[in-house]
Amino acid sequence: MPRIVRAALQGFQLVGGEGAVHFKSEIEVIGFSFSELVKREKHVLTKRLRERGRGESRESGAFLLGYADANGAARISDFVLYDDLDPHSLDTGIIRFDGKYFGRLWAMCRERGLTVVADVHVHPGDSGQSNSDRAYPMVSQAGHIALILPRFARKPIQQDDIGIYRYLGGGAWHTVPRVQRRQFFNIGF
Ligand SMILES: [Zn+2]
Repeated sequence: MPRIVRAALQGFQLVGGEGAVHFKSEIEVIGFSFSELVKREKHVLTKRLRERGRGESRESGAFLLGYADANGAARISDFVLYDDLDPHSLDTGIIRFDGKYFGRLWAMCRERGLTVVADVHVHPGDSGQSNSDRAYPMVSQAGHIALILPRFARKPIQQDDIGIYRYLGGGAWHTVPRVQRRQFFNIGF
């Protein structure tokens, strides 16, 4: 695992190292949408997550895709919604992503020259990890980041309400404490 893992969320760096993870603002702004390509659609991801939640009737989520930049940092530049890969992943109300669809995800990554940097999903209530979230990381690779948006990503999303979890491997997670989230996130959802 690299000593420092960074991901830029459209100018917001996610920095992980020494068991810590934080987000740093480089520019004033914005939304949880990532690439230069989608810059004009500031709230595209959270909007899609709300749409797929069908009137707050079920959870929704997405893989966040990125690439390593010249410094070895991971930059998030794209996303793919769970139900665009596995059409039944949201059917039960909680996310159950069928492993057989990972092939599509990896193929998509290969085509775009990207890797899976993080994932995000919504919860009906708060942004704490469920037992299932802890037991079954979407990507069980150390360094993977899982984000949880509370209240079906309903606006406005308070920065310190966003759950940020880093998978350490072996079933262990690092949770960014609530008191630190505001300084990590400067994202206007
Ligand atoms: Zn969850």
